[in-house]
Amino acid sequence: MERRLQRLNWLKLEELVPGKTDTVILPVGTVEAHGSDCLGTDNFIPEDIAENIAERVNALVAPTLPYGVTRSLRRYAGCMTLSAETFSDVINELVASLALSGFQNIVIMNGHGGNNTALKQAAHDGHRDLGVNICVVHWWMLCAEMTEQFFGHVGGHAGTDESAMVQAIDESLAGADSYDPDQAWYFRPGADIYPVPGTILQYKEGVGSPEYDADKSRKYREKVIESVGEFVEQVLTRWREQRL
Ligand SMILES: [Zn+2]
Repeated sequence: MERRLQRLNWLKLEELVPGKTDTVILPVGTVEAHGSDCLGTDNFIPEDIAENIAERVNALVAPTLPYGVTRSLRRYAGCMTLSAETFSDVINELVASLALSGFQNIVIMNGHGGNNTALKQAAHDGHRDLGVNICVVHWWMLCAEMTEQFFGHVGGHAGTDESAMVQAIDESLAGADSYDPDQAWYFRPGADIYPVPGTILQYKEGVGSPEYDADKSRKYREKVIESVGEFVEQVLTRWREQRL
C-alpha cells in the first residue's frame, strides 16, 4: 500500500484515517554543509528511515519538512535556516493539521541536532493543546549505542554515521571522491564559534570521520532502520496498551 501521504488523494486518506491507521511520521531536517556529503543529508536520512519503517508500524509518511534551524554552519554555501521561532511555529501548525486529519499518533523523525530543542517544546505543546500522542525521534541519538558497537565510536556531524547513511541511500549523495579530512573540526564544549571552522564535526578529537565503505554502510543502514522501527513499534504498542 502507498504510505506516502502526498501521493494519495483526500478521499483515500479519509478512508484510511483513523479507521485503518491513526499514525503519521513527519520527517524533518535542514539544509546544511556536511563535508563532502550533500547539503540535504539531514533531510534524506530521516525520510529514508520513515519510508522504510512505515509498513512495520502501520503509518503514513507526511512530506518532509526540509528547513530547520541551522546556526553554526549557516555561513557555508547553500545552508538555509529558519529562526527557532519560525521553525516552532511551522512544526506546531503542521502537527495541528495532521491532528485535524484524524491522526492520533504523530512521530516526528528528526535528522538535525539544531532542531532538537524546538521539537521537544513543540511535541509537548501539541500533546497538551491537541490531545495527540507525539514522539520525536532523533535517529542518531537513539542509535548511538548501536552505532558505537558497529563502528567502535558514535560518529558525528557528517561523520561515520551520517556519511554511511547517505552513502547507503544513494552513493552520489555521499561525495566520497571529494572527501577532504581537513574539513574535520573537533567540536569542543568549551567554546562557541560562529561559523564553526570546519563542516565535519567530531565530538571526540580525531574520532568519527567518514569511512565510505559501501558494504558496511549498507549494513549500518539496515541496522538503523531495524532499531528505529523496533523503537517506534514499541512506543505505539505501549500507547495502545495504555489506551492513550
Ligand atoms: Zn547532519
